[in-house]
Amino acid sequence: MSGPNRQTTSMTAARYANECIYCGEHDAPLTKEHVIARSLGGDVVLQKASCKTHGDITSAFETRMSRETYGVQRARDGVPTRDKERRKVLMAQRVSITGINAAGESETVAISRDEYPHMPMIVRLPTPGLLQGISPDIESGVALTSGLDTDQSSKISRRFGLRDIVWSSAGINPRTVIRVLAKTAHAFACYELGPKGFEPLLLPLIVDDVGSGSYFVGGFEPERRQNKDPLILREDEIFGEKYLIVDISLKFFPDMPLYQVVVGRPLAGSHPR
Ligand SMILES: [Zn+2]
Repeated sequence: MSGPNRQTTSMTAARYANECIYCGEHDAPLTKEHVIARSLGGDVVLQKASCKTHGDITSAFETRMSRETYGVQRARDGVPTRDKERRKVLMAQRVSITGINAAGESETVAISRDEYPHMPMIVRLPTPGLLQGISPDIESGVALTSGLDTDQSSKISRRFGLRDIVWSSAGINPRTVIRVLAKTAHAFACYELGPKGFEPLLLPLIVDDVGSGSYFVGGFEPERRQNKDPLILREDEIFGEKYLIVDISLKFFPDMPLYQVVVGRPLAGSHPR
């Protein structure tokens, strides 16, 4: 596959969980898990790793992130898709924009998706609460920013004689991004250590969507740029306790910062490879 943001990784060898990494089920049919969702550019696979119920739950929020929040932007950027028909329909739609015309009145015009300025959404998260010694009950603030393509937006502005155009993008739900990061970290720890190789902390957040996301999932302060490796598992001691942390670089979205996710506690005698 090719594409400007295509992630490369050397971790292509298949490994087997042989149980659902979310509930431990091993008798039911199990499907593979992409550690980073395939729709987000991942190609590291953990075979026989989720039951039907949990495969459905995780793919639902991953699809939400990749399709609804980034679908248009990814289509514009030429990122490969499996759903070519849907993309064709999406790109054929026209988008309404509203600005102030020369008479000082509000005016709405339609432009094509192709013309819409590049505006990648960037989700900035504070350091995970656990690493800061903050209570698990506190949900920290999430910042969403967008890098608007100003050349393209002023071109449209001139063409229609409109100023103060409000550029909006598809709604992004930070909770969805947090759950995607949690799932990615959990699946990677299972890939590296085996599903029974550590004490997991993220299952309530991934499976039942409960608890503070920002307690376990966050970024770095000051912000750090993405790593060369998409995923790194490390062990750290926080206030005298040992934790496993996964650093995540979502290379599909080069504007995103580096994230860190507290995925669990090590078991005696286990070490990240
Ligand atoms: Zn399951």
